[in-house]
Amino acid sequence: MTIRVIFLGLLLVFAQGNPRPPGILIQHAQLIDGTGIPARRADVRVAGDAIVAVADSLSPQSGERVIDAAGKVVAPGFIDMHSHADRGLDEMPDASTQVLQGITTAVVGQDGGSELPIADFFERLARLRPAINYATAVGHGTVRKAVMGGDYKRAATAAEIETMKALVDRGMQDGAIGLSSGLEYDPGFYSKTDELVALGAVVAKYGGYYMSHVRNENEGAFAAWREAIEIGRRNHIPVEISHIKLGVKPVWGRAAEGLKILEDARREGVKVMADWYPYTYWQSSMYVLIETRDFESRAAWERGLNDIGGAGNVLITSYRPDASLNGKTLAEIAEARGKDAVTTAIEMMREAGPGTGVIATSMSEDDLTTFVKSPLVLVCSDGSLTGRHPRGYGTFPRVLARYVRDLEAIALPDAVAKMTGRSAAQLGMPDRGVVAVGKKADLTIFDPAAIQDRGVPGNAAQSPIGISHVIVNGEIVLDNGRMTSARPGRALRRGGSPAPPGSPAR
Ligand SMILES: [Zn+2]
Repeated sequence: MTIRVIFLGLLLVFAQGNPRPPGILIQHAQLIDGTGIPARRADVRVAGDAIVAVADSLSPQSGERVIDAAGKVVAPGFIDMHSHADRGLDEMPDASTQVLQGITTAVVGQDGGSELPIADFFERLARLRPAINYATAVGHGTVRKAVMGGDYKRAATAAEIETMKALVDRGMQDGAIGLSSGLEYDPGFYSKTDELVALGAVVAKYGGYYMSHVRNENEGAFAAWREAIEIGRRNHIPVEISHIKLGVKPVWGRAAEGLKILEDARREGVKVMADWYPYTYWQSSMYVLIETRDFESRAAWERGLNDIGGAGNVLITSYRPDASLNGKTLAEIAEARGKDAVTTAIEMMREAGPGTGVIATSMSEDDLTTFVKSPLVLVCSDGSLTGRHPRGYGTFPRVLARYVRDLEAIALPDAVAKMTGRSAAQLGMPDRGVVAVGKKADLTIFDPAAIQDRGVPGNAAQSPIGISHVIVNGEIVLDNGRMTSARPGRALRRGGSPAPPGSPAR
């Protein structure tokens, strides 16, 4: 009797919502469940937005969509821990470049830049109905700019910090997962550590975490990581170093030494992690090549270019005064102008201001491999929906193809855990990132022998191969390699209300 009542009730619940497709049964797959344990044979059943059965063998039920995943892996959908896939979402709500690389959740609002109020972002998501889920940080730079306006090239006053705290508090109440900063960029560049500590205290109340594009990714990287750790230590909040890298030759080969800073901090109780992308080249504004911001200084440019191996390693991606320069290296442009690279760089900065986009090759493969092997390192793309860096199209397939299959740097279940289970834990979202009964049905099915990224600098927008199906909240968004029209993505708000006073940090 009771069971029948519950059953009828469930029927009513489903009948009242949107007509949902019948369930999905994934058969004959190797299951890599996101926890890091080895693959095992399993069938997975999805009903509504949840995983309802995981067993050695399940028989199809009437009306159920059956996906034969023989020879493939079924894994939790990939979680991109540092993403710019919020930009351009209005034009591209199917987020196809993300879906095609197996991403089911993007964590945006990064590098200190978010929408504000955060509630507006979530309303936008509700209106756009994207294909994938989004979580967002509240951006320190955005908050700082809102409070200080154009007068930001200085330390904030106590009163300004109080106003910033109120904005961060509002963002956390709206459901942000934490505070992001971008301390190499304006206006975060001018903030003092104490300002960030004060804002971190607000995040602590809500059980959020602090993620930072740190002040220096070059020779000062270790000191910059220590600053991020300090902000976590003083607030008892987890820390995530964004897109961890050692971006100049003088610090190449020191990744293990750097990771020890993180390991030591963890032994002292600071839950620090990092995210990382699998490319030796970054994309940013041309001006970050000059740490001192002395853009007229020949010596500064000589050093900046020398540190990354020369002007041939700087590929211009967006140059407003003359789009014909896009896709050329600084060395090529200098040659065409009949000038040396330093003169050319100074001229281009004068002509275009700080907005010129570049892809610069400046990391060592050995460091990339050392980073990805660390259990403290999660995967991110740092990419956007339609960017000029291949990371926006191929990050997750590239990790599985290059670092798992080709280089054998890490085992497949470990790589998947870095993309799923450990990431969900960092986000404080226990209902995602793992394939188990009761979890949300975000799933990616791929062929580990065939998966491959294909984008290269200058020809970034190449779809990867080897991912056949992507399921978001129980709906198929990629079906046999083709985008469907389903747009089941959700706004993922940080769960719950403020932690009660005195409760331990996560
Ligand atoms: Zn960044």
